[in-house]
Amino acid sequence: MMILSYEYKLEPTPEQIAYIENTLDVCRSVWNFALQERKDWCKSRKSPVNACSIEHEYIMSVDEPFPKYHRQAKLLTNAKKEHEFLKSANAQVLQQTLRTLDRAWDDMKARGFGFPRFKNKYRMRSFVFPQLGKNPINNQSIKLPGLKEVKWRMSRPIPDGFVPRCARIVRKASGYFVMLSLQLNVDVPNPMPHGHPRGLDLGFDKFVATSDGEEIKRPRFLKNLQYKLKLLSRRLKNKQKGSSNRHKLNQKIARLHQRISDTRKDWHFKLAHHLCNGAGMLFVEDINFVSWQRGMFSNQSADAGFGQFVNILEWICFRRDVYFAKVNKDGTSQTCPNCGAHTGKKTLDIRSHNCNECGYTTTRDVAASQEVRNRGVSALGHSVLENVCGLDATGSIGHDILVGTGRSRKLAS
Ligand SMILES: [Zn+2]
Repeated sequence: MMILSYEYKLEPTPEQIAYIENTLDVCRSVWNFALQERKDWCKSRKSPVNACSIEHEYIMSVDEPFPKYHRQAKLLTNAKKEHEFLKSANAQVLQQTLRTLDRAWDDMKARGFGFPRFKNKYRMRSFVFPQLGKNPINNQSIKLPGLKEVKWRMSRPIPDGFVPRCARIVRKASGYFVMLSLQLNVDVPNPMPHGHPRGLDLGFDKFVATSDGEEIKRPRFLKNLQYKLKLLSRRLKNKQKGSSNRHKLNQKIARLHQRISDTRKDWHFKLAHHLCNGAGMLFVEDINFVSWQRGMFSNQSADAGFGQFVNILEWICFRRDVYFAKVNKDGTSQTCPNCGAHTGKKTLDIRSHNCNECGYTTTRDVAASQEVRNRGVSALGHSVLENVCGLDATGSIGHDILVGTGRSRKLAS
């Protein structure tokens, strides 16, 4: 089974916009109420068992169960009998909101994500229809529960064999969008390892360096947009909170944010295609970008969007029949890709790789990407053969890959 997500721009009528906004509003109160319920429960367990604290008291009975998804969904059904407001939105949409909160809660504990936040009217931006009716789409419009036919711009066709399963309605700075989750109920095999192997090293100095010696910088236009954003954000502090001027500026900032993220995504796609050119296998380091974002790279990392890029790359590789794998990241910059000797830790300011053992010299990032390639290839258990030209590893027969490394000479002899 395969799932794709496609995004289309909606062209809703004023009544439909009112319906969407109202649903967002109801979702928001459901989210905030459910989150408060969870927080209250946690707070009520904080007082020590043997003493009364000044700050925390048991305000709930001890055997009150934790408000998990199913409990909250049941409470929601009951609450609907009393509150007309809750009935104005689709029931499944509201349940989905509770499910999202449940997932955010689990992610916080299991994956170290942030605490779920209360949402004001600007923060609640989307909701999900978990089910769609029969034949919900045609070229002009999409049928959505409660909204009936909504006009849309079908900017690209739905690929053959895919069926829309659920739809997320998103409000962005530039209008309303629908994100369709498309499902293909056929198993598509992943590409097999073949052809020219290429290792990638992601970094801040160069966005990506390849084992073929190519280094790609982050594009200028993104930097310029970032700078623009900085200027606008700086103006924010002069505006009074709650004033309409501040709201206007905030909208301007939101539009710019969207433009940056759209531009970046577009560039990521193009770069992914470029990296697939002439390669049969791609290897990247297995990096936990979430913890990266927290650490010393916090600012640059969020800006670069490595996590998104790797996801896009994996997808493009699949489409282009290029084998994709992640390799162990530890110490890729401490090993010489040419002879395998340990070269010791390089601090971030050392930008070149000079091997004392074999005299191999290249830039730091290219050396790291070549080590990534070597690891990827050896993880496949391929025989690694000597290539006279060194770097330009091209040509391959079946599963025999030619990689220019000194280490392979030892293996071959
Ligand atoms: Zn060496």
